[in-house]
Amino acid sequence: MKENIRVYIRTRPTANFAEDTYVLDENKGAIEVHVRDAGKGQVVNHQQSSHSFRFTKILHNSAQDVVYSTCCHDLLTSTLKGYNGTLMVYGQTGAGKTYTMYGGSDSFQYRGIIPRVLTELFKEIDARTDTQFVVRVSSMEIYNEGLYDLLSTATVPDDGLPPSSESVYGEALNIVEDTQGSVFVRNLRRPRVNTEEDALNLLFESQSNRTTAMKQAGHMSSRSHVVFTVFLEQHSRIDATAGVITSKLHLIDLAGSERDPLGKATSGLSPQQLQKEAQSINRSLTFLEQVIVALGDKKRDHIPFRSCKLTSLLKDTLGGNCRTALICNIHPLAENRSESICTLRFGERVMRV
Ligand code: ADP
Ligand code: MG
Repeated sequence: MKENIRVYIRTRPTANFAEDTYVLDENKGAIEVHVRDAGKGQVVNHQQSSHSFRFTKILHNSAQDVVYSTCCHDLLTSTLKGYNGTLMVYGQTGAGKTYTMYGGSDSFQYRGIIPRVLTELFKEIDARTDTQFVVRVSSMEIYNEGLYDLLSTATVPDDGLPPSSESVYGEALNIVEDTQGSVFVRNLRRPRVNTEEDALNLLFESQSNRTTAMKQAGHMSSRSHVVFTVFLEQHSRIDATAGVITSKLHLIDLAGSERDPLGKATSGLSPQQLQKEAQSINRSLTFLEQVIVALGDKKRDHIPFRSCKLTSLLKDTLGGNCRTALICNIHPLAENRSESICTLRFGERVMRV
C-alpha cells in the first residue's frame, strides 16, 4: 500500500516562525520539533526534548500551485485512470487547511486545491477525444455525526432530485452501500457538470450554503468535516463493448484537530455544545486514524469502517487500489508546539502504513 499513501506537511507562512522550535529539511522531508525551553514553568506533555519526523515531502512557504502539483496532480491522474482517491487536510484550527483546500481570495494565484482540480480535470477531459466523460460533484458536511448536503439548494438539474429550499441542516442523510461495496449517500445531490465554470459555481454555492447554515444554526463553528467529491464516469467512444469506468475523488477539509474544545474559532456555542462538538470530532479523527492504520496491517481482516460517518463514507476510497494523500497543516509558532507535535504524530502514523 505504501506507494498509495502519501503524507505531506505544509507550514503556514508566518513572520514569527519559531526557528529554534521547528527545524526543517525540505529535501529529506524531515522535520524536528525541539522542546528546549520547556523548563521555565511551561508544561509540555512530552518527555523527549526533540521529536523527529519523516514525510513524503515538506512544503514550507510553498505557493498554492506548488502544493497542488506536488500533492494532488498524481491523485487526479489516478482518478482519471479509474481509481478512487481521497485527499485530506488535517491540523489545528488556523493552520491553513481551508486555505489549502479552497484558497485565500478571489485572486487566481491563491486558488486552492479544489478549484485547481476542477480546472485540470476539464482540461484533461477536453484533450481526450476517445472518451466521453460524465462529471458530477457533491458537497457535504459532517457535523456531530450528522451528514448534511451543502448543495441541497442547487438548481442544476439531472440528478433526479428536486432542489430544496430547506435549510442545509434540515435533514441528515444516510450512507448506504450497494452489493459491489460502493458507498452512496442517499438523497445527496450529485449535479452533473459540463464545464469547469458549472463546477466552480457549485463549489461557491456549497461554500456560501455552509456559511448560511452555520449562521442559521446559531453558531460560527468551523469544527466540522467538509467533503467535496468529484465523480467520473467514462464511456469509450471507440470501443462500444467497453464497460463504463467509474471513479471518485474525495477532497476533505477535516475539522480542526485541536483537543481543546474551547478553541478560538468558535463563538456563540455553550460549553456543553462545544464539548459535544469536540468529542464528536476527536472520536471521528481517532477512528479515521484507526482505519488507516488497520489498512496497513496485513494481519487485520476487519477494518473498522463503520465506526463513524466519516470512515463509513471513505470505505470505498481508502485502502486497496485507492490512492490517498494527507496534507498535515501546521502553524509553526512556538506556542503551537504541542498541537504541531500531535499533528505530526498523526501524519507519522499514517506514513508508517
Ligand atoms: P484552518 O482552515 O486550518 O482553520 P485557514 O485555512 O482558515 O485555517 O487559515 C487561517 C488563516 O491563515 C487564514 O486567514 C488564511 O488565509 C491564512 N493562511 C493559511 N495558510 C496560508 C498560506 N499558506 N498562505 C497565506 N495565508 C495563509
Ligand atoms: Mg478551516
